[in-house]
Amino acid sequence: MAEYPEQLERLGDWFRRLDGIGKKTAMRMAFSVLDMNEEEVRDFAASMIAAKTDIRLCKICQNISSGEICPVCADSNRDKSVICVVEDFRAATAVEKVREYRGMYHVLHGVISPMKGIGPDRLKIRELIARLDGSVKEVIIATDPTPEGETTAMYLSKLISPLGVKISRIANGVPVGGDLEYADEITLRRALEGRYSMN
Ligand code: ZN
Repeated sequence: MAEYPEQLERLGDWFRRLDGIGKKTAMRMAFSVLDMNEEEVRDFAASMIAAKTDIRLCKICQNISSGEICPVCADSNRDKSVICVVEDFRAATAVEKVREYRGMYHVLHGVISPMKGIGPDRLKIRELIARLDGSVKEVIIATDPTPEGETTAMYLSKLISPLGVKISRIANGVPVGGDLEYADEITLRRALEGRYSMN
């Protein structure tokens, strides 16, 4: 079988680098690009660049944001005395679907993982501690129930306890080894409501 033109192969290689995309799907996506008109292709490319250059981290919670401060942090109706700590922005989005939660967030951008060589310094922990200036009454640790998520929760608990802030961990409603991102709203609400104190 003849190989595809080099440009198409190259495009396919890029799609393959995307999360969850295999070789066949990547080539199908590359062919879809060929089917677009030139204006669509330019818009497609521009949207990728805009997503990368215009989205930054919220100065307060470190969640992705198109402005300096994200809509949650800017919302005066949110309860600023409670911070829910999550691994990434996907988890924050998942918790946000639980309508009852009206507190704030803090996005760590990962979890402590000695196996992968990720220490606390690589996470947005310093930024979290800086927020605990007396106005915050409770920190809810909502890292995934994986060994790394639990290690991170324990680490944060030890670090925050001396500051006189209540620390709680979400209940085991989320299946062990599971991913917060994929938990349904009811499971997550139960996990939040059933949170237990760590100090
Ligand atoms: Zn924010």
